[in-house]
Parts: sequence; C-alpha cells; structure tokens
Amino acid sequence: MQILIQKYGGTSVADAERIRKVAARIKSYHDRQISLVVVVSAMGHSTDALVSLAAQIHDSPPKREMDMLLSTGEQVSISLLAMALDKLGVPAKSFTGSQVNILTDKNHTNARIEKIETDRLIESLKNGHVCIVAGFQGVDEERNITTLGRGGSDTSAVALAAALSAKECEIFTDVEGVYTGDPNKIPKARKLSQISYDEMLELASLGAGVLHSRSVEFAKKYNVVIHVRSSFTFSEGTLVLPEDQIMEKLLVTGVSLKKDEARVSLADIPDRPGIAAEVFERLAEKKINVDVIVQSTGKNNLNTISFTVPAKDLKDTEESLTSLVSTWGAGEITLDDKIAIVSAVGIGMKSHAGVAAGMFKALAKAGINIHMISTSEIKISCVIDKEHGEEAMRIIHSVFELDAN
Ligand code: ADP
Ligand code: ASP
Ligand code: MG
Repeated sequence: MQILIQKYGGTSVADAERIRKVAARIKSYHDRQISLVVVVSAMGHSTDALVSLAAQIHDSPPKREMDMLLSTGEQVSISLLAMALDKLGVPAKSFTGSQVNILTDKNHTNARIEKIETDRLIESLKNGHVCIVAGFQGVDEERNITTLGRGGSDTSAVALAAALSAKECEIFTDVEGVYTGDPNKIPKARKLSQISYDEMLELASLGAGVLHSRSVEFAKKYNVVIHVRSSFTFSEGTLVLPEDQIMEKLLVTGVSLKKDEARVSLADIPDRPGIAAEVFERLAEKKINVDVIVQSTGKNNLNTISFTVPAKDLKDTEESLTSLVSTWGAGEITLDDKIAIVSAVGIGMKSHAGVAAGMFKALAKAGINIHMISTSEIKISCVIDKEHGEEAMRIIHSVFELDAN
C-alpha cells in the first residue's frame, strides 16, 4: 500500500472555511486512490490561547497538566476535519496520539517520540478511511498525555511517515516553502526548490520556525523526503533531501534569527579541572539545552564561562548555578535575555573559506557588536543585542547575495 502523510499547520485550519478547503484538498487525493494519513495542528493560535489561560491560573503550572491542557487543541481540529470530510462523502476517522499509541518518553511539554504503533492506522486505511491524527501529542508508558514541544506537529507527521514507511511527507503551511530567510521578516527572501537535511536541521534549530527541528532529524534518519508547501495554493514547494541529491551547493543557503535565548555568564569562577563539568552537569540534570559556549581565562586563576540557554529556562538555570557558586565560594552570575542569535547556514561553507569574515565585516559596518560566536562545518552564529536582530539578519541575507532581484 502506497501511503502519503500530510500535515496541516494552525493557519491552514484556522477557521471553518479553512477546514473545508483542507477537506476539499484531501478529497482530491482520496479520489486518486491515495492512502492518506493526515496530521493536524490546533486551529490558528488556539495553543497560545491555552498557554495564556494556564498562566492566569498558575505562574508555573505542573507540566503534566500543561500537556493535558495543550493536547485538547488538536482534538478540536481533528474531529472538525473528519466531519468536513464526511460532509464531502469521504470516509474519515480521527485519532488522538493516545489512540494511535504514539509512545514518548516522560519529558512533559518536550517529549520525544520513542515508538509508534501502526496497526490501527493500517486497518483503517485498508477499510478506505482517511486517517486524521492529532499532531503534537503522544502518551508515555504510564498513559500520561505528553506533548512534543511547540511546533511539534511536524515531528508527529514525519515520525508517522517513518513508521508507515512512507517515502514522502507533505507539510502544508502558510508560506510557499522554505525560503532563504523568514519571508515575513525579510521581504526579499527567495523560495528554495530544495535544501539538504543538515542545512534544514541547522536553520530549524537556529530559529527558522517553518519546521520543528526534530522532524528533520526523523526525516534524515529514516530517509523521508519532506515537501514543505502552501495550503493556500497548488504550487510546488521545497524538498528537504539528502545532501547528495542537492543540485546546487550554495555557500550560504539561508539565514535565521533566534530570539528566545538568553546569555548566562559566570565570572571569576575557579580555574581548575571539573568546574565546567559541574556547571553543565547541573543544567543537563534539569534538561536545559545549552547552545553557544565561550570560556575565557582571567587573572589570578579565575575563569569566565558564558553560554546561552532558552530564555524560558533562565529561572531554573539561575537556581542551579546559585547553589553551585555558593559551594565554590567564588563567582558572579549575570543573566541577559536581551540577546538574539543570528546565523548563516550553507553546505558550500565546507569547501570555501571567508564566510565568517564576510559576516563579521557586514555586522561591523552596521555598528552591530558581536558578543559570542559559534561555528560548525556548515553554519556561523553570532550572539548580538536583540534590538539589532532583524536588521542583522537582513544585512547578512543581502551580503551573501540571497536577496531576490
Ligand atoms: P504552521 O502553523 O503551518 O506549522 P509555522 O508558523 O509553524 O506554521 O511556520 C510557518 C512560518 O515559518 C512562516 O509563516 C514564516 O514566517 C516562518 N519562517 C521562518 N523562517 C522561515 C523560512 N526560512 N522559510 C519559510 N518560512 C519561515
Ligand atoms: N499546536 C502546537 C503549537 O502551536 C503544535 C503545532 O502547531 O505544531 O505549538
Ligand atoms: Mg509549525
């Protein structure tokens, strides 16, 4: 059985009219005898609305209850889409993550998919049904509802594609594909016809919200081609593919901006083996993801370690480090959430020098100060002041000649 997985994001199912349009699109596939598993996100900004509702009740809600709450958004959209299909005469059945048995770890609000059972979906497909699956949610081994992190429906879709051995996963969204930069922030951004898994992974982890980064990890691991395209038009979008299928290896393929990180500096801490290990072990215990790290040696056997963490984890980070600093009897913690990380990504960097220099020079010319730098084989990231974030991204986009004419 040839199975196609499609995912429709929040804007694509924002109201009754949009849901009817999505149903009509699904019908056109169903009419061509294609077996479809459709993953849907919550309608419009309804997940945000649930988050703010919780904030009115509790300033730090228990994560298990957050998952219970947030998972309801997708239950609304799957049922409405199944109804819209029924109205068009297309047999369809909706399923929650728990009904499909999308098994995750216990990490509430940011769980990882461990296994997906496909029996129930395959049975429904064999009976000619379109399967509509709630994105973003799963269950842990104790049957607690979990969610996969904001934007996680992409990951539900690609993981289902992998589990069902589908070759392609179509991600329908509100833009025409993956662009050289966020088209809503960079008017001159261009649509890419293809991008490699590794580039997409870097861009997604560095702020390009068009795909959830774990969806790209799944796609790479299980060789699923992701086709990012618009649910508003019928044009071809962007294919996310293995590197050896990419025709043109650009020096810089895209730029991105991450605004939800914060910088932490530990100054005047002891300069001896084990100190860095202690710091990052504490953070790892709390599952806090550290990104850019810079260490510099000061005078009198004292060190400074600076690094970035997600801004939402700043409070937890401060708590962990305050107790650590007191055990050392030395050190000063400074926190700064007014930063942004601007990045340039491209597989062509592997074989060309000078990209970093070009980026630093462009920022310098605009008077933008760089606080920290981090690089990999295919990316360069700079930590700068948040107020210059969008300007910096546009400057880098144009310096690397990505602007559309
Ligand atoms: P959905 O609800 O469909 O999942 P998202 O809002 O999560 O949609 O993702 C689509 C958005 O991603 C676009 O509206 C766009 O503003 C943003 N975006 C950021 N970077 C890029 C990029 N490089 N290419 C395309 N879109 C991008
Ligand atoms: N509804 C969830 C969110 O808004 C998941 C998703 O849309 O992918 O984050
Ligand atoms: Mg999304």
